[in-house]
Amino acid sequence: MPTWITVAEGVHQRRGGPFDLSVVVVEGADGLLVVDAGGDPSEGAEILADIRSRFDRPVLGLVNTHAHFDHTFGNQAFRSGVPDVAIHGHALIARHFERYEGPRVAAWRLDPSREPGRAWADVELVPPTHPIDAPVDLDLGGRAVRLLPQPPAHSDTDVVLFVPDVRVWVLGDLVEESGPPMYGSGSYPLTWPDVLEALAADMRDGDLVMPGHGAVVDRAFVARQAGVLRVIADRIAGAHAQGLPADEALAAHADWPLPPEGLTGAVERAYLALDGEPLEQGGTRDA
Ligand SMILES: [Zn+2]
Repeated sequence: MPTWITVAEGVHQRRGGPFDLSVVVVEGADGLLVVDAGGDPSEGAEILADIRSRFDRPVLGLVNTHAHFDHTFGNQAFRSGVPDVAIHGHALIARHFERYEGPRVAAWRLDPSREPGRAWADVELVPPTHPIDAPVDLDLGGRAVRLLPQPPAHSDTDVVLFVPDVRVWVLGDLVEESGPPMYGSGSYPLTWPDVLEALAADMRDGDLVMPGHGAVVDRAFVARQAGVLRVIADRIAGAHAQGLPADEALAAHADWPLPPEGLTGAVERAYLALDGEPLEQGGTRDA
């Protein structure tokens, strides 16, 4: 069963489901803003029903922290369950769907054994109704929430949500607590550490930070994860500069700060960037 935690006044985190996804609810006088929608239509519907059973106020909108399936494939349940729902997300989500999530669903439909356990037969990729490419302030009724689209990092579509009155940050998969950070589709391993360092610089001690998966963390955790991603970026860039082929880059070090089996996608994506390729292929990890 999913668990709910009130992390600050009127800000709640739901954890659970097949991906231990953080779903965040921000309350304002006019209604609720929900962050992230689950990995298939039925998880989206279950999240929406759970929220409606717990909160009296109407759902005003949904935010996608980024395009990956476990955060967006429930969008259609919000679209059909909430009349005129505003779906906020990065302007490049539609492009990301075309490049990565759409082909992945098409491949799964041809051969569901590629990814057992998915329930994507009826999934429709629903991009944001309110795409953003610059910071936006939303008014939930007496409460402002800021949406901050990020440069390429965990994905090409990361958006950070900040609730100024309680100093809560929602970072999506820019940080992960319950597992290692994932170099998924559309990731930018070389610039991800820059993005986290900049966010950590904007945070204060005592700020609360919600990861895409896992427990609430703080500024120090964000700074540490930035450091880990920096080591990985520097080593991959170093291997590339030495002329090592991609499949030898990981063997060049015995002491990676994350499990090396999770870094294949990082090498692929970083080498594509360093070779100046359009980053449309690679990035084979889950989310
Ligand atoms: Zn992700």
